[in-house]
Amino acid sequence: MEWRVNFSCVILRTNPVLLSGRMSADKIHFVDLSAQYRQLESEFNAAVIRAMSRGDFILGEDVGAFEREFAEFCQVEHCIGVSDGVDALHLALRALGIGPGDEVIVPTHTFIASVLAVWQAGARPVLVDVDPRYYTMDPEATARAITPQTKALLPVHLYGQPADMDPLLELARQHRLSIVEDAAQAHGAEYKGRRCGSIGDIGCFSFYPGKNLGAYGDGGGITTHRRDLADTLRTLRNYGQQPKNVHPIKGFNSRLDTLQAAVLRVKLKRLEAWNEQRRVAAARYAEILRHSSLALPEAAPYSLPVWHLYVVQTAQRAKLQASLDSAGISHGVHYPTPVHLQEAFKELGYGPGSFPVAEALCPRILSLPIFPEITEAQLQRVAAACAG
Ligand SMILES: *Cc1c(COP(=O)(O)O)cnc(C)c1O
Repeated sequence: MEWRVNFSCVILRTNPVLLSGRMSADKIHFVDLSAQYRQLESEFNAAVIRAMSRGDFILGEDVGAFEREFAEFCQVEHCIGVSDGVDALHLALRALGIGPGDEVIVPTHTFIASVLAVWQAGARPVLVDVDPRYYTMDPEATARAITPQTKALLPVHLYGQPADMDPLLELARQHRLSIVEDAAQAHGAEYKGRRCGSIGDIGCFSFYPGKNLGAYGDGGGITTHRRDLADTLRTLRNYGQQPKNVHPIKGFNSRLDTLQAAVLRVKLKRLEAWNEQRRVAAARYAEILRHSSLALPEAAPYSLPVWHLYVVQTAQRAKLQASLDSAGISHGVHYPTPVHLQEAFKELGYGPGSFPVAEALCPRILSLPIFPEITEAQLQRVAAACAG
């Protein structure tokens, strides 16, 4: 048995999602996907078997049905299922006609996919700093970064907390810019009562397994109110084809898989409740950690967050990591290096000191376990490890 425990610990650091089913009962996972599977096992199995026996594997019945259901959930007219989150962003930019010679403003404190998508579209990512309280795109820094080449703003609703959209919408209006929301961590989050993904021109979602709405593999979705963009996106994700064998534009193969759509439909019915359970867990953390030395996350007054991640700050991160490790509690850092300091984007010409807020946050942040099924006892154990 001993080897197994050690093996799990090593892998857990790099991929907490994959091994969650095999851990000993004492471990607290970062995300526990097996709990949801066990809870709804017969429904998942039936949904996948139904799709397999129909045999409509590519853009099948479940894809269309999921698109309608997710559009309704996001309070938009249209949803287009795609292969993953980074493709959602990439195709969104393409559908808006953004390409070489254009600039897109993106926060540097994000998962690198937000910036990779801009590069994939052939445009130049222009990075900006974030708000130190809420970790989202700083509207004043964004205003300063606008040039005649700017075509779009790409706010990220990081950790499940909406970016401050009103000042960004105002900038977009003044400068005739499009807004693409990266809502990959914010399924169901609300900004002043409006769902993330319904506020800008296009919203982009990831259904990576560990996201608040996750498939059993890769998946992504694009939301929009605009019929013209929805039509272009449906064509772009399917080789630029519309109708069959007619190719008005060059496209990609980036379709949401039918089996994944079947899984997502089962989970979507529970998403509202799961997000609420995350809010309850976050409120409990706020309560039981209030006397700790950690800086706790705050919800902005305009926001109804969905707590994709629960990110605390500490000047002594290595100590906290060691204490969590020895208590068998998995944890993460989202993200240890801002995009402007990644080797991959050194061509953009930024360096240390370019974005002081993000650079100050990155060595201090730590993500504690949060998922809908986390128990009071588990939250208490995490809090105890944080104090010790
Ligand atoms: C997960 C994520 C993505 C990319 O989604 P994939 O489905 O993994 O391609 C993009 N942006 C953010 C903020 C994410 O968290």
